[in-house]
Amino acid sequence: MYDYDDYVMISEIQHFTFCRRQWALIHLEDQWQENLRTVEGKILHEKTHETQSEVRDGVVITRGMQVFSHELGINGVCDTVEFRPDPHGVTLHGRIGTYKPVPVEYKRGKPKEHNADIFQLCAQAMCLEEMLVCEINEGFLFYGETRRRQHVILDESLRDEVSAKFMEIHEYRRRGYTPKVKPTKSCGACSLKDICLPTLMKRSSAKAYLNEKLAEQGDDQCESY
Ligand code: SF4
Repeated sequence: MYDYDDYVMISEIQHFTFCRRQWALIHLEDQWQENLRTVEGKILHEKTHETQSEVRDGVVITRGMQVFSHELGINGVCDTVEFRPDPHGVTLHGRIGTYKPVPVEYKRGKPKEHNADIFQLCAQAMCLEEMLVCEINEGFLFYGETRRRQHVILDESLRDEVSAKFMEIHEYRRRGYTPKVKPTKSCGACSLKDICLPTLMKRSSAKAYLNEKLAEQGDDQCESY
């Protein structure tokens, strides 16, 4: 169990999975840069949260639901939770029958090579299970670019990975630890690449880089005389 002040946002697992340094720059050092991807992602999320609740074909669709897990020390918002009629489901205030909760997370773009979106969806389901005292074994990711839903099975190994990642995030927070730069192919799409300076770190040393820059300046001055 965690103190409420130590809770982390569910969405942090996305940044943490993409790059631990990016997570630390955003969540420990309050650095944030918007690029096209983050802006488009925000617009898609705002559209998703326009309506709070509606019923379609017997399915109760709830948007923007606040969720938490005391066990994982996390909280956040589910884009959409579909409550589908199910004899083994949970009761809902003001509604007849029982329902099975199924989280649906909206993303811009298309399915990714890494599991960041799947981890986030699973964390939402784990929160819902704790709050509603039920089991949720599936969820969906909807991608704006492909306009398709990806079905995700929420099995034990996935839950273990999510729990381990949040334990790691809590530990990094406790230590206030920002990992060093390790340039990867993800850096090209990173919204913090200009702050993180991966190209600088690829050089043999900072001293060599500075010497190179000074030499360039010297050349420029010579040319201007
Ligand atoms: S530029 Fe690369 S190393 Fe730096 S935060 Fe982004 S992904 Fe991580």
